[in-house]
Amino acid sequence: MAAAPIIVWFRADLRLHDHAALSAAAATGAPVIPVYVHDEETPGHCTRGGASRWWLHESLKSLDADLRKLGSSLVLARGPALEVLGDLARETGAGAIFWSRGYEPWAVKLESNLHGALEGAGVRCRRFSGALLFEPEDIRTGSGDPYRQYTPFYKACLKEAEPGTTLKAPVALPRVPDGVESDKLESWGLKPFKPDWASSIAAAWTPGETGAQARLDWLVKEILQGYQASRDFPGIDGTSRLSPHLHFGEVSPHDVWNAVRYTTAAMGAKLETGAENFLRQLLWREFSHHLLFHRPGLVTSPLRPEYAKFPWRTDAENLEAWKQARTGYPIVDAGMRELYSTGWMHNRVRMVVASFLVKHLLISWQQGAEWFLDTLVDADLASNSVNWQWVAGCGADAAPYFRIFNPVLQGKKFDAKGVYVKSWIPELAKLPNNRIHEPWKATKAELEKARISLGESYPDRIVDLSEGRKRALAAYETIKG
Ligand SMILES: Cc1cc2nc3c(=O)[nH]c(=O)nc-3n(C[C@H](O)[C@H](O)[C@H](O)COP(=O)(O)OP(=O)(O)OC[C@H]3O[C@@H](n4cnc5c(N)ncnc54)[C@H](O)[C@@H]3O)c2cc1C
Repeated sequence: MAAAPIIVWFRADLRLHDHAALSAAAATGAPVIPVYVHDEETPGHCTRGGASRWWLHESLKSLDADLRKLGSSLVLARGPALEVLGDLARETGAGAIFWSRGYEPWAVKLESNLHGALEGAGVRCRRFSGALLFEPEDIRTGSGDPYRQYTPFYKACLKEAEPGTTLKAPVALPRVPDGVESDKLESWGLKPFKPDWASSIAAAWTPGETGAQARLDWLVKEILQGYQASRDFPGIDGTSRLSPHLHFGEVSPHDVWNAVRYTTAAMGAKLETGAENFLRQLLWREFSHHLLFHRPGLVTSPLRPEYAKFPWRTDAENLEAWKQARTGYPIVDAGMRELYSTGWMHNRVRMVVASFLVKHLLISWQQGAEWFLDTLVDADLASNSVNWQWVAGCGADAAPYFRIFNPVLQGKKFDAKGVYVKSWIPELAKLPNNRIHEPWKATKAELEKARISLGESYPDRIVDLSEGRKRALAAYETIKG
């Protein structure tokens, strides 16, 4: 009798390498049904913004092409995951379903419901690790609690065994059994078409496993050595840009970790500082996911309870100016343009624009986080929420609220020659370097020479920095206790 098929349920693991669930299914010799479920109905499941939806479309297309090279294909199904997978198991007579573990609150709940429903119906459920380097249950303080601060968390991770070798992609897969139907990807409407705002994003990225591996290769060959010195400077191409690939699981964090470790071992001391620093950043991703797993409420509620009554302002006009890169502060506007054009923003600039919103404009971090979730290609519930809370001062290990980034000083320090600002705001390109971060200080002659008319060709400042700062500190006083 032919073996019952195994369903491999793909989610944020859109790759073939180092995919434990797929490899385990392939090793049984049973027919394998790779499936992706587009679920817009299970609460939380499809909280994807426009940029992420574009990426998802491209990544699924790429995964299907890769599966076809092995003799299989990706089955696309739409609807509540619990029902769709139950129906698929029944219709195909599947004996088991394998998947990679998710850590977001809705994913945890869905997996538990799925397990209950399918095991009850005689379908074996097996869950594999792969999205994180360490399981949230395993990294705990001496008293058994989850870590709330990054540095001790980081040190605890380093004490764990290093990730072992990663799994190779299967060399071949059986054909998807006859009669299993698939949606057409285009029918899901993930990509914008009228207007097609994604063309500049498409020019910046190659979603899919091949694109992810190319980035990883680029990281170890071109970026790692200078990472420590360059990572804070947005005008330099000095970071890996692996974040969307990691978010969609086109590359596993183990693969990234190992690539960095092996290259360092081969290249010796000159890579060590860069590599150590890079892995430290990678573990911030881990920290964010562990925090969200243990504190699922952090997506909407501050981790420090006193911030629940923080007197945020409602100011639709200021919020819109921030979103549309019209604040009058060049580094902020450059960042928001980079975000809108490419779906990504340099980490240093993310901190600056986020701080400007929550401190100088006194607009809540939740509103900023929502915009980022809509516009980032690496939009990630854990990393986004945790970082916004960090900037707002209400998160785990957060910078104190009263430490307020000054966008002019940040610009002067991290973009001294204005390379970054000029690349995103060409209107300012002809200003002398000492005016690029504060065009309002340029003389009439300098403005004329650079053909800038403040308030027309480049916006006036929407807030005075020292007044914004005073207002923020006064707001903070009201909750200080
Ligand atoms: C307000 C704010 C919102 C953010 N939202 C997101 C988000 O939605 N998704 C996201 O992936 N990152 C987010 N980050 C973290 C960080 O900005 C990005 O991960 C980083 O800029 C991605 O670029 P990179 O891949 O070149 O990073 P690299 O410097 O090359 O770092 C390597 C990897 O480490 C991880 N990493 C680095 N820094 C952080 C960090 N601070 N927190 C968590 N993981 C980190 C990422 O997976 C990244 O790909 C946010 C940061 C801020 C300040």
